[in-house]
Amino acid sequence: MKHSLTLISIRRALAVPAAFLILSLIVAASAGAQAPDFSKVAIKTTKIADNFSTLEGQGGMIGVLSGADGILMVDTQYAPLTDKIVAAIKQISPSPIRFVINTHVHPDHTGGNANFGKLGATIFARDELRGRLISPAPGANGQPGTPAPEIALPVVTFENKITFHLDGETVDAIPIRKAHTDGDTMVYFHNTDVIMTGDFYRSIGYPNIDRVNGGSLDGMIAGLAQVAALAGPNTKIIPGHGPTVDRNAVVAHRDMILGVRDEVAKLIQQGKTAEETIAAHPTAAFDAKIPPANPAGDRMADRFVGQVYAELKQPK
Ligand SMILES: [Zn+2]
Repeated sequence: MKHSLTLISIRRALAVPAAFLILSLIVAASAGAQAPDFSKVAIKTTKIADNFSTLEGQGGMIGVLSGADGILMVDTQYAPLTDKIVAAIKQISPSPIRFVINTHVHPDHTGGNANFGKLGATIFARDELRGRLISPAPGANGQPGTPAPEIALPVVTFENKITFHLDGETVDAIPIRKAHTDGDTMVYFHNTDVIMTGDFYRSIGYPNIDRVNGGSLDGMIAGLAQVAALAGPNTKIIPGHGPTVDRNAVVAHRDMILGVRDEVAKLIQQGKTAEETIAAHPTAAFDAKIPPANPAGDRMADRFVGQVYAELKQPK
């Protein structure tokens, strides 16, 4: 389903040339099957520290580091929300939006890239993420993905940790290999003591191992171990989706994944098919501790079990 945004409303919001508007619509149209009504989305700002806030709207959590040196953002949500997101940032600081770090390729985290690129921000991400924006994986229906426009692409890519120094803060962008996708990055704000994980950790629902985009079970487990190794007892861990948690919650989440993995492995040993494994509900022992992923109350357990099954069945 495509978004029903009009060119006029976007033009009014952004005051940019028509060619760019069409590109924005292409990005918006690739945003996924369950297109929300963006006109009803309000941006909620939460101040975590004097120079750091989060923005919740529709899609992945945005982080905003602010100060006289300019704004550094983590992720951009969906393109139709850009004007609201920019307005929320202006409420925090009048400084220019200089840097964007993408945690991973999914459109609820990169959909606004083209707009922020056009506004002058320099986008940073993993090489794998840039490659997948250029050559997107086919959708669930087998339809080819729509390549992102040039302006949406990361200008700077990295394979190892890079560090930003601005606004009195030290910010590490740390690659997490083949976890939620193959282009994941976690972002660590030293002074604020905040880790933003993107979606390889989420505090609502079961994990999503996007194997089509290069994610893997082992990579997700290793990524959670990296968070646990980096975090101290007071570190605020801000997931791609869901409330902020502490280190203990991430460790418990990793243990849950290991537990589900063992349950699924047992069922595979008994010769169960994927359907039978999902029907056996191997997450049952953990469900009470996993908040639903969406207002419909779904924890996305079946998706996760199917992904774990596929991982364990594949030849090593
Ligand atoms: Zn994601």
